[in-house]
Amino acid sequence: MKIGGYDLYSIETSRFGLDGGAMFGIIPKPLWEKEAPADDKNRIHMVTRSLLLVGHDRKIIVDTGNGDKWEDKFKTMYDIDTESVNMDSSLAKYGFTPEEITDVFCTHLHFDHIGGNTKIVDEKLEPVFSNATYWMQNENWELANSPNEKDQGSFMEADWSILAENGMIKMVDGKEPFLPNIEIELSYGHTTGMMMPKIQDSSNTMIYVADLVPMAAHIPLPWVMAYDMHPVLTIQEKRVLLPKAVDENWHLFFEHDPIHQACTVQFDGKHYRLKESVTVSE
Ligand SMILES: [Zn+2]
Repeated sequence: MKIGGYDLYSIETSRFGLDGGAMFGIIPKPLWEKEAPADDKNRIHMVTRSLLLVGHDRKIIVDTGNGDKWEDKFKTMYDIDTESVNMDSSLAKYGFTPEEITDVFCTHLHFDHIGGNTKIVDEKLEPVFSNATYWMQNENWELANSPNEKDQGSFMEADWSILAENGMIKMVDGKEPFLPNIEIELSYGHTTGMMMPKIQDSSNTMIYVADLVPMAAHIPLPWVMAYDMHPVLTIQEKRVLLPKAVDENWHLFFEHDPIHQACTVQFDGKHYRLKESVTVSE
């Protein structure tokens, strides 16, 4: 798929599982398990999916997934699998390597979004994208570096400390544009200052909705995560985004949906729902 001067590639970087109850907040299990069946530990099957944008003399990766710095205990807890699929193999599928990436767009600093920013080589942290600039939102950086008790398990310094030491991070202030032809939408319900890139041309709009709408099952307004800092704000933000997505036939790109890379949205008079599943790249 091509939009706004970029070729788009869907880059799956891991499979993993999170507690289904936490993923769907107040929605009762008999409802959510029809959308996302749980395993014997109540985890639902999810992926981490990055978006690669190639164009305007750039190769931009949006988010980097769980990465593979994990100790066995965590790997088991979150059922993280970076063997059947990972960043290297998914980039290679389209003929790209991590060294070619010019920009890493970090939507927010939770471990399942930027764990793949860094790796451990000979017991030392190293950047995965050695030639890239890593872009992060100021407000989210501040939160990540002094998290509250609810959040602190989601932020891991190892995902950015070596990048900061190497001077590879550039901070973004609000919606200021920093990459060609990419608009920034900001969201505050899931975490403070989450950046969602939007790519547009006269025929198509693609927005990477990160944890505002992690899976297609999260499209209906009250289907929000217990992980969100401000779930009611998430609902308000969806109430603003989804009518635009319906009216202008936007594609929502899903970071965590195990089946749908992206989709269009419909409103049936009562609920917003998936209209058509969209394949960004085969
Ligand atoms: Zn998150």
